Amino acid sequence: MCMLHSKGLSVSKQKEFRLPKHVKPINYKITLTPGIKVTTKTGDSEDVVYKFTGREEVKVNVLHSTDRIVLHSANLEIHSASFVTKKGKRLEGTVTLDPKNEFAIITFNGIVPAGKGKLEMSFTGIHNTKLKGFYLSQWKGEAGETHNIYTTQFESTDARQAFPCFDEPAMKATYDVQLIVDENLTALSNGRDIKTEKLGNGKKIVTYARTPIMSTYLVAFCVGEFESSEPVWQNGKEIRIWSIPGKNHLKEFALECGAFGVKWYEDFFNRPYFGGDKIDMIAIPDFASGAMENTGLITYRDTALLVNKKTASYAELARVCEVILHELAHQWNGNEVTMDDWDGLGLNESFATIMAYLSMNDMFPEWHVYNEFGIDRAGAFALDSLKSTHAVEIPVSHPDDIQQFFDTITYEKGGSLLFQYIQFAGFNTFRTGMRIYFQRHALGNATVSQLWDALEEGAKVDGKDIPVRMLMDFWWKTAGHPVVSVSEGDKPGTIKVSQSKFQFLPAGDKDVWPLPLHIRFSAGGEVVEKKILVNEGSTTLTLSDKPLDYVVLNAGGSGFYRVDYSDGLRNKLLADVQNTLQIIERFNLVNDSWASVRARSENSMTATEYLELVKSFSTETDANVWAVISGALKTVYGLTSGDHRQAFKAAIRETVRPVFDKLGWTPKEGESVHTLQLRGQLIGLLGTVGSDKDIRKEAAVQFDKWKADRNSVDPNVVPALIGTLSYIGDQARFDEFLALAEKAPTTQEKLRFLGALGNFREEGLYKKAIEMTLSGEIRTQDAPFILAGIIGSEHAGETAWDFMRDNWTKIVATYPDNAVPRMVSACSALDTPELQAEVVDFFTKNKVKEGDMAVAQMIERLSVNVGLRESETPKLTSYLESSAKALASAKA
Ligand SMILES: [Zn+2]
Repeated sequence: MCMLHSKGLSVSKQKEFRLPKHVKPINYKITLTPGIKVTTKTGDSEDVVYKFTGREEVKVNVLHSTDRIVLHSANLEIHSASFVTKKGKRLEGTVTLDPKNEFAIITFNGIVPAGKGKLEMSFTGIHNTKLKGFYLSQWKGEAGETHNIYTTQFESTDARQAFPCFDEPAMKATYDVQLIVDENLTALSNGRDIKTEKLGNGKKIVTYARTPIMSTYLVAFCVGEFESSEPVWQNGKEIRIWSIPGKNHLKEFALECGAFGVKWYEDFFNRPYFGGDKIDMIAIPDFASGAMENTGLITYRDTALLVNKKTASYAELARVCEVILHELAHQWNGNEVTMDDWDGLGLNESFATIMAYLSMNDMFPEWHVYNEFGIDRAGAFALDSLKSTHAVEIPVSHPDDIQQFFDTITYEKGGSLLFQYIQFAGFNTFRTGMRIYFQRHALGNATVSQLWDALEEGAKVDGKDIPVRMLMDFWWKTAGHPVVSVSEGDKPGTIKVSQSKFQFLPAGDKDVWPLPLHIRFSAGGEVVEKKILVNEGSTTLTLSDKPLDYVVLNAGGSGFYRVDYSDGLRNKLLADVQNTLQIIERFNLVNDSWASVRARSENSMTATEYLELVKSFSTETDANVWAVISGALKTVYGLTSGDHRQAFKAAIRETVRPVFDKLGWTPKEGESVHTLQLRGQLIGLLGTVGSDKDIRKEAAVQFDKWKADRNSVDPNVVPALIGTLSYIGDQARFDEFLALAEKAPTTQEKLRFLGALGNFREEGLYKKAIEMTLSGEIRTQDAPFILAGIIGSEHAGETAWDFMRDNWTKIVATYPDNAVPRMVSACSALDTPELQAEVVDFFTKNKVKEGDMAVAQMIERLSVNVGLRESETPKLTSYLESSAKALASAKA
């Protein structure tokens, strides 16, 4: 699954949640009739729900005789259950439910003998609106009429909401699916439709090809009015992009990515796609995550699949490309070879994360996506710097807990650890190991240890002796990451290196990581690179017999550790930072330094020292490096007030404006996507917190131009225009943005405007924006993230927080379960001691479903933020006073 971009709580292994192992499913024959409207009248009010009915035959292998069969079922009414033995004897079953464990326990009126047999059941379920199970999604036509879609999201444990099943990843089976639907509707499932028969009552029954053997969470059904692109054939697979009608012009880019991905992965794994000869990818108007890799029927939220190639920003295109390549990677990593259990979720998600980058780097070499991966990795570093983080390998427990682990650690930290290995061992060596892994575990399940073994063998095949299991296991199973301190050694040409766990609030942990160090240094004018595996807590390394001109630890930037240089070594790097360090190394330097500010330990950098460091980046032109600097500047801005804030605004303009002036408003021929992006970023920074009058004025001019002709302004600048104009906008601008959202030609554009409504500074306007997140005007898949954005803002955060508390019950009932914890995460921005007390009190009294880990992390982050404000504000104040004086005297 692709999560949306945004515990160390010990979860004990609770065996009672596991199914007994003596009944194994082989094949499911499932027939479902979705979309049955049921109206209940109470007095004058009418309540409408949509239901589905189903029957299924599950061929099972019973390992020893028993009088009962236990399988998963949730929110289903099971009408009948019987068992037909191999000899044709039918046993009638009585169903009792265990709602806590989501079990249906079927007790038979006789003994089920060992051997094969058939479990038959009929049942009814509800199409819920919480975006999981077999759920209801709706869209409005031009005349305002409502159209229904019945669609599924089963990962992790919601297949059981659509049909009773053995809902664990290792309980693999094949599926023969039939759907009975209205004749005018399109019905899709994992396999190709092989037969359609009219039933004469306005309905048709569609039969699909048998699926390969796979886990329940990968089964999918989509029923509605859908329109598909023309197909593209790649290596004998038919790829189509589906959506609600009228969006075929937004599918070209997704088709290109899909075709590229299928070819790339078949080549990488050296084996064909296992799921058959078609891959449908469909945009669903209401979707809880980014996308879901159901075999042969991949479902997406609209913005992760449909995009206008000409008017989209680079970020929007990159997002679509990444998500598609992520889901396609899963067809191998996850669908064909599946984690043994949910504790191996990283096997699925860390892999899909890094595989998407590896393939995207080949599809668009000019994008230099590994630099961009630095941003993802920075998110993982930040979360992993909390005591409440978790290891990539996770303990399995109740279904509610599994959902929590679809987070930055499982995706981006795990992906970063693999990237660290790939960079250390080499891409080809990694690929050799992956091919061994796939040959060995095809169509089955595997544990992470089995993967390390295969990678280690792959390294041997390539003549390399790398202790992969030792190296990877420790990183995979240990929460947190090290900071490596480096200083000059006693003799010339040597350095002292020591590691300790990096935490914003140190807990005194004493882990020592096996460190794959990648070092680049210059000695006597000669540049040398070295890869060294260090297993000690501290050591001295001899790099050269000559004195060092400079030394870069984490050269190439792929190591999942932070570096803390001594002042002397840092100054050597900063002396000519643009030429000494690669982009990703500069990124890591500013990112590690900012983390050091936030940690506020004895040797930490202060915020004012950071501002001095930023001055060495006055000629920086990389968008990713600037993303870190901008983020830090905005945080520092939030620590200032009054005259000091005015002084800081001036300082921002002084730093940023020269960089922007070199770029100018108009892109030059042949500019890289990163320069295009940088322009947008700098306009956004100057136009908002920088209060740059020229930029604000020109933003309005450019925006008018864009309204007249969408192609007249670079798409990467448009979000900054919207950000700036909402920041300074009045009621008229607010109304204009609302209208533009209403008639936006793409969902990306619609969300840009909706997302900007909370930026307006007038109280009446941002209050209206806050209310809209719960008024039904914004889809529940988007509303929690828009509200989170406002909670995280300085001007409206407290109002949004009050709104969230006042409407908590309705919020929990309305928003998708997996979105509530992500929204709650934004409360870490409420960084005054008074608000902190309110936040802690509220979440002590109100538990968040699937969210205890997110809440613990938010509260810890909040305490880091409050601490930062308290310790850094006074230092900043005197710093700004003295720099304002210096500025005044310079002007005088
Ligand atoms: Zn995924």
